[in-house]
Amino acid sequence: MLGVFRYRDKLGHRLVLILRGFPCSWGRCTFCPFALEQSTSTARVIGDNRRIIERAIEEIRREPVGRVAVFNGGSFHELPYDTVERLRPLARGRVFEVEERSEFVTLDSLEALVDYYRPRRLIVRVGFETAFEDIREGLLRKGMPDSEMHRLSRLRLEARSRGLPVEIWTYLLFGMEGIPEETVVESLRAFKRLFDGVIAVRYVKYLPSHPDPAPVSEALAKTLEEEADLVDWGGEQWEIAGRRGSAPGASGAARSSTGSGERRGST
Ligand code: SF4
Repeated sequence: MLGVFRYRDKLGHRLVLILRGFPCSWGRCTFCPFALEQSTSTARVIGDNRRIIERAIEEIRREPVGRVAVFNGGSFHELPYDTVERLRPLARGRVFEVEERSEFVTLDSLEALVDYYRPRRLIVRVGFETAFEDIREGLLRKGMPDSEMHRLSRLRLEARSRGLPVEIWTYLLFGMEGIPEETVVESLRAFKRLFDGVIAVRYVKYLPSHPDPAPVSEALAKTLEEEADLVDWGGEQWEIAGRRGSAPGASGAARSSTGSGERRGST
């Protein structure tokens, strides 16, 4: 669901903006629902995003937050300039989070974002989803091989050695047929070594052509809650173009600690 969402959770008191995006330039991931929400109309993308950003600015005036995340069901670098520009007052001096596909993340692009937005800290989230390349490329068709995972892991260190306040976080997908739970746990631990943060995202099926969801064991839920920076069990933002999607077999106990969802594991 597009809009502005306020959270108080493991990541602190923060705002999440779900913006309208253009179709993702990759657009091939087998589980991706975001095409349902994207638009090819520049006027619609710009108009909807102006309204969402204005609402977020009002929200921050009403009750300040130190952290703002912006998601567009694709990569931040694919947003129109009108949107990019209007986000400046929300990013300046705060922890500012965006999503990108890995090919948009370079030393130059990180430097440019920090220079333009002047955030206290820039967090770039990238959806590697699993540390197993055969699953990532075979089942999920992410188009982001292991070489990209290792490039970004090194890049974040290089960026910091140049004084850039930058972190790279990744999404970890679970609860899907074809992603065994033991690979989720192994991926979680590998990602913790490679990146600055890990957000575990429970898979939700939206379209008949998408892979089937799988039940999530209590043991996996507990491990994720204890070791990931955040677990996204699905929240109101996950209603996409009026659809809630399906994810049977989730552990009720597991849902309780983070409450509502984060987002979205898209890029
Ligand atoms: S999951 Fe992300 S990268 Fe893949 S098609 Fe969807 S928006 Fe694009």
